Amino acid sequence: MTSEEIKKILNNRDFLFFEDLARNSAKITEQFFGRTIGLYTPLYLSNYCSSYCTYCGFNSRNKIKRLKLTPEQIHLEMAQIVQSGIENILLLTGESYQATPLSYLKESVHIAKQYFTCISLEVHPMEEDEYRQLFAEGVDGITIYQETYDRPRYSEVHISGKKSDFDFRYNAPERIAKSGIRQISLGILLGLYDVAEDIYSLYQHLRWLEKNFPGVEFSISFPRLRKIKGLELPFGHVDDASFIKIICLTRTLFPRVGINLSTRETPFIRDHALGLGVTKLSAGSNTSVGGYALTLPQEQDPQFDIEDNRSLKEVVALLKDKNFDPVLTDWRPIKNDL
Ligand code: SF4
Repeated sequence: MTSEEIKKILNNRDFLFFEDLARNSAKITEQFFGRTIGLYTPLYLSNYCSSYCTYCGFNSRNKIKRLKLTPEQIHLEMAQIVQSGIENILLLTGESYQATPLSYLKESVHIAKQYFTCISLEVHPMEEDEYRQLFAEGVDGITIYQETYDRPRYSEVHISGKKSDFDFRYNAPERIAKSGIRQISLGILLGLYDVAEDIYSLYQHLRWLEKNFPGVEFSISFPRLRKIKGLELPFGHVDDASFIKIICLTRTLFPRVGINLSTRETPFIRDHALGLGVTKLSAGSNTSVGGYALTLPQEQDPQFDIEDNRSLKEVVALLKDKNFDPVLTDWRPIKNDL
């Protein structure tokens, strides 16, 4: 499929076409994933960042309160989160190689192993050997979004810091796959650039990765750009209908790929996207550092505002009500005492 064909699909306002696309997507999703929806909770370890990305509230030039959890505080946050019953955790940081080096990430993963069975990271990109060390520590998955695949646009919005290195980021999924880590989540920030062009490039990237690393489980996210405090962003808005079409089209072209939906989206969109292609939801989220047990969220500026504030319990109840099977972990280690 070309970017022109993707554009035509996104611009097609014919209701029957939309319905066909959605029905087909729902059918494929059920065929490959059944009625299961994976759930995870994000935990922000630090908001230090040495990069300047114009669209992000954590950027190095933004004068916000900077925090980084100590090992004791990580224990407190995790002990609070695990009470909800979730076993799948996503650990996030801003991108600071100084504030959150590999040693800090390894220690955080080591602590997380005491509370959770499934651990993923969304942190700065690294070298293959560093990913290998994280794998040995027990990391199951890495999330790394290219944000936009258009090089000129990428340079315009990633002004300074390591994130401005397009190629180092683009090649990160390959390094992760080679390290042994079994789950990789890719994504673009919808609204940064021409949506059809970026989706086309994401699909190309994913196809190449699937072909070269068939043993890796890939998933995709499509976060929509949100405004950050005090900044008017001259970027495109992706409306709800186009957003749902993107999910359905992705499912149709990539039957086995996971599709994640975060609490950036409203309960209305999250509830309606269920069954159409989405396979994983974040739930009970707090995007402040120390937001679960330590700091009041209003005391700091989060990376983005949450639109769906429902607790994990409420999301689980909703899924059961809609005849879905909520999954709180991907796997559990078995002790063989024989
Ligand atoms: S998007 Fe990531 S690298 Fe860029 S400013 Fe935000 S936290 Fe830092």
